[in-house]
Amino acid sequence: MHPFTFTRARTVDEALAAGARGSRYLAGGTTMVDLMRQTVERPGSVVDINRLPLRGITRTPAGLRIGALARMSETAANPVVRRHLPAITQALELSASAQLRNSASIGGNLMQRTRCPYFRDVTTACNKREPGSGCAALEGYNRTHAILGVSSHCVATHPSDLAVALTALDAVVHLRGRDSERSLGIGEFFLRPGTSPHREHALRPGELITAVDVPLAPHSATSGYLKVRDRESYEFAIASAAVGLHIDGGVILSARVAVGGVATVPWRLPAVERRLVGARPSQRLWEEAAAAASEGAAPLRDNGFKTELLERTVARQLATVGGAK
Ligand code: SF4
Repeated sequence: MHPFTFTRARTVDEALAAGARGSRYLAGGTTMVDLMRQTVERPGSVVDINRLPLRGITRTPAGLRIGALARMSETAANPVVRRHLPAITQALELSASAQLRNSASIGGNLMQRTRCPYFRDVTTACNKREPGSGCAALEGYNRTHAILGVSSHCVATHPSDLAVALTALDAVVHLRGRDSERSLGIGEFFLRPGTSPHREHALRPGELITAVDVPLAPHSATSGYLKVRDRESYEFAIASAAVGLHIDGGVILSARVAVGGVATVPWRLPAVERRLVGARPSQRLWEEAAAAASEGAAPLRDNGFKTELLERTVARQLATVGGAK
């Protein structure tokens, strides 16, 4: 591990002052400390933000505000989340392990980095870790990599389950800088790799995630998350789907669909949603709509199976949430 200085912030302003000087924020540490041990991340200074008052989960006029330092486990167990945002509870409970969920924060979950094995192996070429060095995954073993949102510079999947549920449910991320405060829709927060895969978020230098807002809508209350993976626990998604449907009078009035494990960022599927709204639920509809999930897919040598798996995952979760007839 490289040497670094360590401080603790007692207030948001103290943290932001440290962030402005280039310190990295440390919350649960479940990703960053691992990456520091592997020398993938080599910050010169780290500021512990766990004492900041950013842990509450509160109602807002339009929905729910989840503090950036709320732990994954306490967010999953929150009664409002369980009742009105079940896709979020399910995504959290299918993530990592119980011990990690007790430590990892909501803000940190959005900041977690890819599980691409080449990214974590400092002896290999990786544009995300070392800009301009190349991408070992393009010609290497790429079974777990992305088929959507890829570029010739990076094909790594985004690892978060929670971010997929938040993307489906139109979450908004609140950010604070030393002299600024702003909010981004979650679709603007994550950046596709393009020519600069080392830039993963729209955060400005020193900015801190303070909270995530999730609107409470009829389709949020009837939502769910399906995770498909190589083993049943403590594993990342090969494909996943978050679905929210509002069905009234036998007609789908609103639909939200996002997928993970297959794309470089949490991936919303407006083409699938368009096919659903106004239609009547049926197994045939689920399958027809899900066929649009893989539009634009660009499989690599080892992950061609993900195209069909993605469509089946979406169809199955539509049937689970909307009912099969
Ligand atoms: Fe690095 Fe992305 Fe290539 Fe993986 S896919 S080696 S993270 S550039």
